[in-house]
Amino acid sequence: MRIAIIGAGAMGSLFGSMLSSVSTVYLIDPFEAHIQAINKNGLIVEKTDGPSETYHLFAFTDPDKVEPGVDLAIIFTKSCQTEEAAKTAKLLLGQKGLALTLQNGLGNLEVIEKVLGKDRAVAGVTSHGGTLIGPGHTRHAGQGPTYIANSPENAQSLNRIVETFRAGGIDVSLSENLDSLIWGKLLINVGINALAAILRVPNGILGITPECEKIMGNAVSEAAAVVKALGIQLPYKNPLEQVRKVCANTAENRASMLQDILKRAGTEVSVINRAIAEKGKALGIPTPYNIFLSEIIEALEATSEKRI
Ligand code: NAD
Repeated sequence: MRIAIIGAGAMGSLFGSMLSSVSTVYLIDPFEAHIQAINKNGLIVEKTDGPSETYHLFAFTDPDKVEPGVDLAIIFTKSCQTEEAAKTAKLLLGQKGLALTLQNGLGNLEVIEKVLGKDRAVAGVTSHGGTLIGPGHTRHAGQGPTYIANSPENAQSLNRIVETFRAGGIDVSLSENLDSLIWGKLLINVGINALAAILRVPNGILGITPECEKIMGNAVSEAAAVVKALGIQLPYKNPLEQVRKVCANTAENRASMLQDILKRAGTEVSVINRAIAEKGKALGIPTPYNIFLSEIIEALEATSEKRI
């Protein structure tokens, strides 16, 4: 299988490393220092359970350098770059090739479908975690299952993707309920990401500090009310308990929104807490915690160059 990974930051690099032993992987990312470091010295991956390993992958800043006709394009940019990434996928995918998003937040699949067509795009979620330490160097920060939404019209391609992922050591299953997958992950991000970014603490602290848990619980309950009104079945019974569990399982992890704020980069708040606020408004469900968390993150983004 030939796989293009579009967006080779923390997660793209990680998935690229895992898939490289069982497929031909092309990493595509405009981050020049990162691509140069991978081409020169290989990609260093710090493992969750052992010493670092170095992977020698094909890495490009310019997608035109990749021979088109790939079987799979995995989109791992941040959500604000999804459309651009989908255009790159369109350039590279073969006739039967699929684009897969494992990004967080609402709306990525719809953006990709607009560029590629409904039958060429699939979505999923992953519990793996990654942190980009620097150019050519990523840390595997947490392991967990990956789910991809099943689509009967793509059954053959999806089965091949599942086989390849499993051969690469990625625990993957197909799921029949896309909304449940996406919203199940979204509620976790609603609870953790903005708060971790504002407080600048690792995930674990949120779950063991009553003052944090109060804010987390309120933001998650608002999102759960939106989920209920939309008639979506979550993959777990108690959302706050699930968020607490994820905080404990990823205690040392820096949430990706925290990584963005520390890098003074834009965040994904518009597709996480802000998306809940917008859905709530449309449904007549109050979401004051999600509005306030969004506003603080947006203010942090707007003042990133003025930080004392
Ligand atoms: P990241 O910022 O480390 O990587 C994103 C990469 O995309 C960057 O290297 C950037 O240069 C690149 N990029 C930007 N525009 C591009 C374009 N047009 N074409 C190709 N590449 C482009 O982000 P990440 O942490 O790897 O997260 C990627 C996605 O996965 C996000 O949606 C995030 O929410 C989700 N996710 C992250 C984690 C995590 O632990 N980091 C876990 C699960 C899901």
